[in-house]
Amino acid sequence: MKINIARSSGFCFGVRRAINLCESLAGGDKPVYVLGDIVHNSFVVEKLSGLGIRKMNRIAPGKGSILIIRAHGAPKRTFDKARASGYKIVDATCPKVKDIYAIARRLEKKHPIIIIGDKGHDEVKGIAGQLVKRPLVIGSPSDIIPSRLGRFRNAAVITQSTQSSENIMEIMAKLKNIVPGIKLHDTTCKTTVVKQQEIRTLPRENDVVLILGSPTSANTKRLYQISRSMNKKTHWIGSAAELEKNWFKGARSCGIMAGASTPDEVTKGVVEELSKITGS
Ligand code: SF4
Repeated sequence: MKINIARSSGFCFGVRRAINLCESLAGGDKPVYVLGDIVHNSFVVEKLSGLGIRKMNRIAPGKGSILIIRAHGAPKRTFDKARASGYKIVDATCPKVKDIYAIARRLEKKHPIIIIGDKGHDEVKGIAGQLVKRPLVIGSPSDIIPSRLGRFRNAAVITQSTQSSENIMEIMAKLKNIVPGIKLHDTTCKTTVVKQQEIRTLPRENDVVLILGSPTSANTKRLYQISRSMNKKTHWIGSAAELEKNWFKGARSCGIMAGASTPDEVTKGVVEELSKITGS
């Protein structure tokens, strides 16, 4: 069986940058904490924990300690609270996410803001937390309840960096019928666009597709959804341990796409295990 790894498979720029920042701070004389998971991947989180970087779920007093803000960013109040609690902040927020903050703040001066994104996702909370007024978050067309949008005569729509173009278009088509002066400012990240373009060919060109990434990774979920809609033999796994031999019965090729927060070691492990179980 031929194994085809997508060209855009694996870490994006923002994730790589955040991990490099963490590694550069590990082993210093000050305790280093991350609020939540630095990126949505358990292997990365474990590796950094092995280097002595501690995870914190809520900000405790931390005089003299370093707090790393994760790649997805954080609301403004988190920065304020961390400073007031004595931390030196090292901001690993992806610069592309910060661009979204700036766009959202600028647009908010003239329009109500709607975010197309996953409710409760760290990045969406971070974007919302930069704004003066609470924005409306819409994750899918079924979240749109016309009676709740009656107050909007116009609105500026921004998107979580990892949204799919299909979801954005479907939501916008519905919103345009309800909010007359609505305008989309597509803030999807270029890495996401490239990955989503490639995942539209991988399922056509391969008998089986493997999507690699943790269950909490929004961009991995999106890649899985697109691939699965085109090829039912698409499987989403976190590591080689989840591979099942019967998925590859009669398959001549397997395409692999790793999410933007999935380390190369995971892909390597999957390829090695695949070669063993399929004899390829
Ligand atoms: S997907 Fe894009 S915006 Fe998100 S962390 Fe990666 S490079 Fe940054």
